[in-house]
Amino acid sequence: MKILVINCGSSSLKYQVIDSETEAVLAKGLCERIGIDGRLTYQPAGGEKKLTDIPMPTHTQAVQSVIDALTDENTGIVKSLADIDAVGHRLVHGGEKFKESALVDDAMIAAMEDVNPLAPLHNPANLIGVEACRKLMKDTPMVGVFDTAFHQTMPEKAYLYGIPYKYYEKYGIRKYGFHGTSHSFVSKRLAELIGKPYDSSKLIVAHLGNGASICAVENGKSVDTSMGLSPLEGLIMGTRSGDIDPSAVEYLADKEGLDMKGVMNVLNKQSGVYGLSGDVSSDFRDLWKGVEEGNELCRKALEVFSYRVTKYIGGYVAAMNGVDAIAFTAGLGENDSGIREMIMENFGYLGIELDNEANRIRGEEQCISTPSSKAAVWVVPTNEELAIARETVRILGK
Ligand code: AMP
Repeated sequence: MKILVINCGSSSLKYQVIDSETEAVLAKGLCERIGIDGRLTYQPAGGEKKLTDIPMPTHTQAVQSVIDALTDENTGIVKSLADIDAVGHRLVHGGEKFKESALVDDAMIAAMEDVNPLAPLHNPANLIGVEACRKLMKDTPMVGVFDTAFHQTMPEKAYLYGIPYKYYEKYGIRKYGFHGTSHSFVSKRLAELIGKPYDSSKLIVAHLGNGASICAVENGKSVDTSMGLSPLEGLIMGTRSGDIDPSAVEYLADKEGLDMKGVMNVLNKQSGVYGLSGDVSSDFRDLWKGVEEGNELCRKALEVFSYRVTKYIGGYVAAMNGVDAIAFTAGLGENDSGIREMIMENFGYLGIELDNEANRIRGEEQCISTPSSKAAVWVVPTNEELAIARETVRILGK
């Protein structure tokens, strides 16, 4: 089957076409500046990347431009729209309604609208993408794959916050977790790599990208994860603060004369390693460069970041009463050997040891722990688009 995978945001739309039999990417690209002017990037497998300015006043025009590119006589990868067998949509928040991926139909969209208040920045934009595709691809089956679904197996003790229970009952305030598609994909692969059955293994996945989260996967199920009601909780990220004392919100609002929106903007967009480094960058390559040039704040940002990851990994080893293997994934986890070394420095007591030579690799699947390490440590590249394509096929086959 040829699966069109769509990841739609408020002004951008990423897409890939994946052949589900060979799992090859047939074409990929991006629509940017939707609602502003519009730019399409399109690259067929083995072909040139092409950038075209195309008016995209709405997401429907953006999806139409993707369809036009995919069916183009010269550079397209299919003859007609009928050759696209299904669409897989990346959807951010499924609340408690969606414990797994689901076929897109009217009932599913109505149910998703109910959880929109939990992710006001992401879900409405995701739904606009779904509606645009439904309008233009009436006969093509579609599946929604939720970032939160994999974590719906967390036990109550992991997902409840220490606030009045009635707020969980009334408003659904609890930990949901995100990056589930990636945590599921990488943990399954990690179990294969260490030769243990997925359903009887204790694994930790550190998804470290611009957004970052950790997940404890016990016997094939997410049992805890660092992101919460929203993707703001947990690790320090590119520009997000991660865990912070809620009292700091009130104090900061008072001192800076900010309203709640203003403080949330600081915590989401001006914090993380970007804010810690004195606004140098949210990109770790720039932070390392800063360290080389003697920038103390860049060094602090890397230390605070990696210390938080270390604590979460240690916490999840305790939560699962052991660990068989740990995986690093996403932009930073796959590529930054220095940060992996800093994170894994303090696990000697648990008998987990990095092999510094093996750890030098970048972006490849590889074991990076010593042969005598009590738990294996691996770099496992994530592939969320492929995971969405696989989910789409699985749900349609049901
Ligand atoms: P992602 O959100 O998964 O695309 O990851 C993006 C982040 O990964 C960037 O902000 C960088 O900090 C980091 N990153 C990507 N490539 C490298 C690299 N070669 N070395 C260090 N960090 C990298």
